[in-house]
Amino acid sequence: MEHDALVIGGGFAGLAAATYLARARRKVCVVDNRLPRNRFAKASHGFLGQDGSNPLAILAEAREQLSVYPTAALLQDEAVSARKDREGFTVSMASGQTLKADKLILAFGLRDELPPIPGLRERWGQSVLHCPYCHGIEFSDRRLGVLYRTEMSVHQVLIVAEWGPVTLYLDGARLEPDAARKLAERGIAVVDGPVSALEGDGPALSAVRLESGKRVAIDALYLAPRSCLSSPLAEKLGVDVEEGAMGPVIRTDADKLTSVPGVYAAGDIARAPHSVSWAFADGVTAGTSAHRAMVFG
Ligand SMILES: Cc1cc2nc3c(=O)[nH]c(=O)nc-3n(C[C@H](O)[C@H](O)[C@H](O)COP(=O)(O)OP(=O)(O)OC[C@H]3O[C@@H](n4cnc5c(N)ncnc54)[C@H](O)[C@@H]3O)c2cc1C
Repeated sequence: MEHDALVIGGGFAGLAAATYLARARRKVCVVDNRLPRNRFAKASHGFLGQDGSNPLAILAEAREQLSVYPTAALLQDEAVSARKDREGFTVSMASGQTLKADKLILAFGLRDELPPIPGLRERWGQSVLHCPYCHGIEFSDRRLGVLYRTEMSVHQVLIVAEWGPVTLYLDGARLEPDAARKLAERGIAVVDGPVSALEGDGPALSAVRLESGKRVAIDALYLAPRSCLSSPLAEKLGVDVEEGAMGPVIRTDADKLTSVPGVYAAGDIARAPHSVSWAFADGVTAGTSAHRAMVFG
């Protein structure tokens, strides 16, 4: 076998898994096409020792540290197909290269499906945000908003209210009476009607424009978009995938082992909620579980 383990996706989960396997002196290869989910944000928050660091810089440093281990290999490529055979797994890359490994660790992350509102996509990770724990204190006591996507948006707006005065933009949806009562009790404003655009200078946000023509002043807008798996490889391998509140989640046990023996999954694709720290922790679990399986069978 060329590698003891092949890690598909070299973000926070994948690099953590590979680092632990390399430290266990196992031959591990990480295949990554360098599109981590938080690449739109200039600063990542909440990861101990790296609060405020650029997420791409954290990953670049992790790759550099991993590359020093003699049994670790890093490949910048896209895994496009994977199959289980008698000896293990064979994975083909977009470049045409094929790699074989005894264990597979899936860590290819999620892709967010952003609503097609003009002015939203280009501000994602800057002033249009997914999570106030990651990007909340930077907008403390400013004019905050939440864009309604699903019933979960009611929960989200009640959380965001902890950081400052917040408005829920319904964008054409209707609130259940119970939800409307909870928001009124918390003093949260609700704006009806479809949103037609977001406005502001560069990455900054200054107004939400409604289809009615009305503009509401704002500094930061939160939304919880639906997300999908970044790669179809889990389905191709026959791994069980469940439908979570915001999109698909690969089912794993406490060792991050999937329903297919020898295949582990870590990070955003195999859990909720999501953060760099949780993805890192999952990667450690997947890497050490795969190692124990190599030792004990
Ligand atoms: C805008 C934004 C800002 C965020 N800010 C924060 C923050 O401040 N703090 C925080 O804790 N969390 C933050 N998050 C959450 C954080 O980004 C994720 O929880 C974290 O990136 C998950 O790590 P992961 O390793 O599971 O996936 P990712 O980091 O997304 O890494 C997956 C990797 O797999 C690669 N890949 C995908 N398919 C393939 C394939 N077929 N072949 C090879 N490689 C592949 C991708 O290119 C990527 O490099 C933010 C999220 C968003 C959307």
